[in-house]
Amino acid sequence: MTLEERLARRPLNSLRNRDEYRLRLLDRVTAGSRTYAGSVNTTQHSAIPNELAGRRILLVEDEEMIAGVVRGYLVQAGFLVDMAADGFTALHLAKTHAPDLIILDRMLPGLDGAEVCRRIRETMSMPIILLTALGTEEDRILGLEMGADDYVTKPFSPRELVLRVKSVLRRSIKEFSPEPAVELAGFVLNPAARIITSDGRPLGLTVREFDLLAFFLRRPNQVFSREELIRGVWGWDFGDLSTVTVHVRRVREKIEKDPTKPELLKTVWGVGYRFDVDVTSQATPGAGASNVG
Ligand code: CA
Repeated sequence: MTLEERLARRPLNSLRNRDEYRLRLLDRVTAGSRTYAGSVNTTQHSAIPNELAGRRILLVEDEEMIAGVVRGYLVQAGFLVDMAADGFTALHLAKTHAPDLIILDRMLPGLDGAEVCRRIRETMSMPIILLTALGTEEDRILGLEMGADDYVTKPFSPRELVLRVKSVLRRSIKEFSPEPAVELAGFVLNPAARIITSDGRPLGLTVREFDLLAFFLRRPNQVFSREELIRGVWGWDFGDLSTVTVHVRRVREKIEKDPTKPELLKTVWGVGYRFDVDVTSQATPGAGASNVG
C-alpha cells in the first residue's frame, strides 16, 4: 500500500502531522481522478458522523462567491445551512433559528463581525468560528476577545473549514464517552452537561473556555505550556499561541476574584500556566489526589 493509500484510509482526526494533513486535503481536491481506498465517491469521503448530521449552521458572509462555495461544502457534509450577508440579519437569525454553530466573517457591511460576535455573546453561547483576513492578527485577537471560539484565516480551503466546524461542534455537543465529574476547590465539572459551576453558580463558559477550564480542573497543580494547551485543549498540531493567551484571560475573568491578580489560573513565567489549588483537602475522584489525608 502506498503512503497516499494509507493516509486515505485513516480518519482525519488521527492525522497528527501538518504535512500529512495538507497532503490529505490535496488528495481530496483531486479525488475524482484517483482510485485509492476503492472509492472516488465524494460522499464517502465527507460522510458526516451521525452525531453531527442535521446540525444547523449559520453562515455569515457578505461575499456571495465565498458564501456559495462554503454553503455547498457544508450542505454536502450533511449540515443545514442558514445564510446572512450582513450583521443585523445574522443577529436576527442567531436568535430565531438557534444555530448549533455560527461561521462569522470578520469584515461585514454595517455591523462588523466583532460587534456581531459581542452581541451574540451577551445572550448565547453556541460556538462561533471567525473568518479573518490574512495577516490581521489584531482583528483575530479582537474576535477572540469578543467571544469567538475559533478562527480560520482567509484565503482558506473550504474543506479545512468544514473540518474545523466538525471539530468545534463535537466539542460543543455532549461528550460521547463522558468522563467522570470533578469537584475541586468549589468548582464542579459536569462533563455530560458541559457545565462548570463555581460555588453552585454556573459559569456561563463558551465552548473553548469550558474545554480549557475542564482541562485544568482535571490536572490541578501541573504546569502546561501554551503549545501543550493548543494540542490538549484545541486538538491542533499548529496554531496561533495567542489563542491560548486570550482564552486564559477570558476564563480568569469568570473565575478569579481579581482577574489581574489570578490566584487560581496562574502564569508560570517562561513556562505556561498552572491551576493552583490545595488538593490535599479535597475529595476529588480521578483528579490525582493520591496523598489525601
Ligand atoms: Ca466580508
